[in-house]
Amino acid sequence: MGLMDGKKGIVFGVANERSIAWACAKQLADGGAEVAFTYQNEILEKRVRPLAESVGAKIIEPCDVSKNEQVESVFKKIGDSFQGLDFMIHSLAFANKDELSGRYINTSREGFLLAMDVSVYSLTLLCRHAEPLMNGRNGSIVTLTYYGAEKVIPNYNVMGVAKAGLEASVRYLSSDMGQNGIRVNAISAGPIKTLAASGIAGLRTMLEHCVEKSPLKRNITAEEVGKTALYLCSDLSSGVTGEIIYVDAGYNIIGM
Ligand code: NAD
Repeated sequence: MGLMDGKKGIVFGVANERSIAWACAKQLADGGAEVAFTYQNEILEKRVRPLAESVGAKIIEPCDVSKNEQVESVFKKIGDSFQGLDFMIHSLAFANKDELSGRYINTSREGFLLAMDVSVYSLTLLCRHAEPLMNGRNGSIVTLTYYGAEKVIPNYNVMGVAKAGLEASVRYLSSDMGQNGIRVNAISAGPIKTLAASGIAGLRTMLEHCVEKSPLKRNITAEEVGKTALYLCSDLSSGVTGEIIYVDAGYNIIGM
């Protein structure tokens, strides 16, 4: 008996085998869930499709979250095939590389709006589509955030402001959707070397800092994030919503 036996869900944000979304999908599939996957574009499809097929996925669809028609199409497919939805992982974000170094004050209007659209608004959009499919099924939604939402992290810049918006969205969405039994939570993950993280100037320093300062004296793995996603998507966390859960080797509790 797996924790997720009989449950069906969708994972947004797999780019390759290093993606946090993949680590989440793997834990959920290993736990017995049927998982649908999306990929951002055709270039990434080549990476995503074999991974998805390795855990028996039948639904593997394109979805750029900045395109309403692609989002609508994915949820139509889910509605037709799954006839309901038990969990959704939102593990995606984007900002132009030149906004992720130097001074935050230089963020352009276009760069700001793009980061907000893809990294923040997309959660609200996906939740609105997921809600009717989750009604009556105690659905669970999980997104990914970072400590740069709360404290200044050099070079994280507009993404820190986006994550602050994302964390506030988690609270508003959990309040809206709670009456239908749907839970919304975020995992605040410590730094992990992924495709997206490589776009942030000084990632190596962030990783080294975590080893030096965190209580566990190490960095975390994507698998550890995946295990927390499994907890949040399963009935083990049935009373938990609107929370930001840290998987960061304890880094956030240190003052000095
Ligand atoms: P990743 O590069 O593997 O994943 C980022 C994903 O975002 C990719 O799959 C990409 O295709 C997707 N994406 C970007 N723009 C998109 C769009 N318009 N439409 C659809 N998808 C789009 O990197 P990751 O580190 O696994 O990132 C996943 C999430 O985890 C992000 O929200 C990131 O901010 C968050 N996070 C990462 C770290 C870290 O250190 N890696 C730490 C904390 C939080």
